[in-house]
Amino acid sequence: MANLAKDLTELSRKAGEPAADLTIQAEGNAAVFDRENSKFLVKASGVIMGNAKEDDWVWLELGSCVEILEEARKNGSSEKLTTALNEILASSKNSDGQVRKASIETLVHVVAFHAMEVDWSLHTHPTPVVALAASKDGAKHYSGTVFPDEAVMCGPVPLFLPFANPGLDLGLGVYLGVLEYQQKHGRNPGQIILGNHGLCTFGVGARDAYGATEIAVKAAKIRLGALSAGGISFVPNDAAEAIAFRPDEILRKRLLAREALNK
Ligand SMILES: [Zn+2]
Repeated sequence: MANLAKDLTELSRKAGEPAADLTIQAEGNAAVFDRENSKFLVKASGVIMGNAKEDDWVWLELGSCVEILEEARKNGSSEKLTTALNEILASSKNSDGQVRKASIETLVHVVAFHAMEVDWSLHTHPTPVVALAASKDGAKHYSGTVFPDEAVMCGPVPLFLPFANPGLDLGLGVYLGVLEYQQKHGRNPGQIILGNHGLCTFGVGARDAYGATEIAVKAAKIRLGALSAGGISFVPNDAAEAIAFRPDEILRKRLLAREALNK
């Protein structure tokens, strides 16, 4: 098995570089799925992304986390489920067997691995994305894409979700949002904008999860620029759909996913 903790550390440090402006302090997290063993590595609570080390990642069984999400989907969130979630998060261990509490935002990654068939999941708080996600017309600003590479790397239609408290409510909101999106569009969202909170992107490798975040940040800056220049004019929906699923663009995306993270 590849050294997932090493690769995840590399992704985290890149995402935590001050110049990237994706996270500061203990903001954000990342996770990778070991599909063969149905378990995943996620950031331990309180770790600074840019300083992450290989022992800052803890293992969790996907199945036990999915059970909580499913129960919440059927019967709504409850104190009992929150307690059960906290017990799971508090008992997680790193690869050295040390107990470290897993991030409170862990369920966001659980949704990605359980419902979206991806193996890498990156969650950050980029300033331009949060600025839009905290604006009163946030959902409107994310009703389309603003340039072709956004449609290719992040999908032609973003998923915008209203604010939810970190923890079970956030996980449930993302789960319900993704299921509804899949029903409506017949595919997975490539970028999820969390209202008053941040950004989630995904990949089959670390490289495309990070690449989607980079493009999403550029797209957020373009939205802010367009708003200051009179308003956003989106790429027409049919054109965004066409370019996102053009065979040469799909191939380009696949090739990029195979690149090393630092290329
Ligand atoms: Zn967050």
